[in-house]
Formats: sequence, C-alpha cells, structure tokens
Amino acid sequence: MSDDGSDVDGAMPVTDGGTTADADALEEAFTYDGGRVDPGESANIRYGISETYLGDPVRIPVTIVNGKHPGPTVFLSAAAHGDELNGIEVVREVAHDWDHAELHGTLVCLPVMNVPGFLAQERYLPIYDRDLNRSFPGREGSTSARRMAHRIFTNFIEPCDLGIDFHTSTRGRTNMLHVRANMDNGQVARLANAFSSNVIIGGEGPSGTLRREATDAGVPTITVEMGEAHRFQRRLIDRALTGVASILAEFGCHPDSSVHWPGWRTLIDDSSKKTWIRADAGGIVDMKHGRGELVREGDVICSITNPFKEEEDIVSVEAPFTGLVVGVLENPVVYPGNPLCHLVGLSPDTQVALEREHTEERSQSKLRQQE
Ligand SMILES: [Zn+2]
Repeated sequence: MSDDGSDVDGAMPVTDGGTTADADALEEAFTYDGGRVDPGESANIRYGISETYLGDPVRIPVTIVNGKHPGPTVFLSAAAHGDELNGIEVVREVAHDWDHAELHGTLVCLPVMNVPGFLAQERYLPIYDRDLNRSFPGREGSTSARRMAHRIFTNFIEPCDLGIDFHTSTRGRTNMLHVRANMDNGQVARLANAFSSNVIIGGEGPSGTLRREATDAGVPTITVEMGEAHRFQRRLIDRALTGVASILAEFGCHPDSSVHWPGWRTLIDDSSKKTWIRADAGGIVDMKHGRGELVREGDVICSITNPFKEEEDIVSVEAPFTGLVVGVLENPVVYPGNPLCHLVGLSPDTQVALEREHTEERSQSKLRQQE
C-alpha cells in the first residue's frame, strides 16, 4: 500500500504481450492519484478514500481496464447505497468475465463505492446516516461523506467521458429495471437510449447525486434502477449486462457488437401521468400486482387490512389511471403516508406493445410447463 492508501493488486496484461508502440500510440494511459494503467493493461486497485475508527484505511475496489485501442473512458459504478447489490454483480461481470482484448477505450469499474455502508449492509454511510449519493462532487475539508465523494469523483469520475451508476429500490420495495436520465442533454439521452431499457424516467435528478453532478461536470451519466436491495436478481442482472453491452457498442468501445432494441420503450417526462400511490391507512398490505405489470384504471392494486382481517376495516386501493407498475412495496407493512406503488401512464402504442409482450411471456411459460 502506498502513502495515499492505494494498493495495486497486480497489473494483468490483457494483450497477447506484443509490442504496443505502433498501433496503440493514440490510446492514453489512465492515470489517477497514485498510479497509472497503460493501454492494453488492466489493474485491480484498492484505493483509500477515508479512515476507520481504528485508523485503518477505508479502501474502495476499483478495476481499470485500458484497451489497446483508443476510445472513450466509461465508468460503471454501484453501491453508492451500501445495500443495493444487483449493480455490484453487473460491474464485476463486466470487469472480470467479459473479454476486453479488443476494447476501444477504457473502463473504470467501481463495484462498491460506499464501503462502510456495504460492510454494515445499510443504504447510508454509518453512523450519521449520510447519503453518499447526495454528497457528490464532494469537497476536501468538509464532512466525511463529502471527503469520500471528493476522492472518488476527482480520481475516477472526472477523467471519464460517460458513466452508468447502478442502484436498486430502497429496502422493502422493488423497481422494474429502468433508466433515469436528463433527456434534455443530448449525450445523456444517447446513453439512456442505448441502454435498451423499456422505461426511461426523465429529469436531471437531485443535486449531489452522482449522475447529476457528473453530467454537470461534463461526464454524461445515467442511473440504472433495478430490483430490490440485499439480493442478486439474476434476470435483472442479465438484462442490465445487455444494456451495458449495448452502450459499449453505441459508443464504439466494442465496435463489432450491435446496439440492442428492447422491443418497446416509453419515456416518462414532466408531461407524463405518474404518481406514487401512498397508503391512507396503516396496516398489513395484500399486494395484487408486481413490478412491470400493467394495471387498468379502477383495478384494485392492493388492500390494507388490520390484524383481525375485519371486513369492514379493509381498505382497497385502486389504480387512478391505467399504467405500468414501475416500483412496488415488498415489505407488506405501512403507516399512513408510506408509498405503495409507483404508477406511470403509458401511450396507447406502448400499452399495446406491453400487452403483446406479456401475452408472449405467458404462452412461453405455459410451453415450459408442458415440456
Ligand atoms: Zn440507490
């Protein structure tokens, strides 16, 4: 470990070991405070961003994969919220399972940014409940969260050309896979469209979030929301990997690959119907619909009951309009005011495409059952 707390586990050439002087002259080394990774090489780094109560370094894992060929520098980050795990697996598989021998550009892979939260399996930085994802771009001499954010941002975010930050729903809820992106920014919109999710929610995001601050600093960035905290959800991870591959194709990092079209897509912007339906009664929730389902106006989304299941006390919650369930409660208990379901309206075309997809899925699962 060097003085600044960084520690390179070992440089692993991804080339066949040939000379790099000629064709690779245009690709540059990736440099950060305390080290460099040359074209055609990759490195696993443990980089110090803070210190524990015992005075030991708090180090984040970083994998830099620098391709032989010139191209954009792309960051992939996860676990800014320490208990949001799906993205960790996405970033690890891109960094370590994919073949990058022909990579054009550089990948900066940050699978676990909030190490203290990850160790405690909590969303926030313990113990003052500070949100790392409201602390970017960070500042020296400021709070512990901002100091950590500053180390991450200056070394591994600012040098990049684009970025993808992976999240899940908050503990106790789940999200269908979707992108959040400032669609008014052309490069962010290109990134969002290339990710090939069905749903994109527009907006610049709260200040202090990695995607907003990186975008403002000239590094167009999207957030990917997928599933729930505390789990690896294989189907969602696979779909996110398809999205990453599609982005790397769109921006020329893997020029032989192609951009993936998700079949249907809807952009939820300021003009779209959307609402977080909240509980008006405390109780135990019987949820009738899951994430990604289409519900019709007047359908019962869930009912809220008391411990005695007394008929007269059951509260039915109906869909105020026909739409898609983007996020939904998983932990079936609520106080009045707690969110139950994130419902977004769809255009008639999108509704037709979604219904067709659901019909196909149902018939495929019937076929599987028959086999
Ligand atoms: Zn999050």
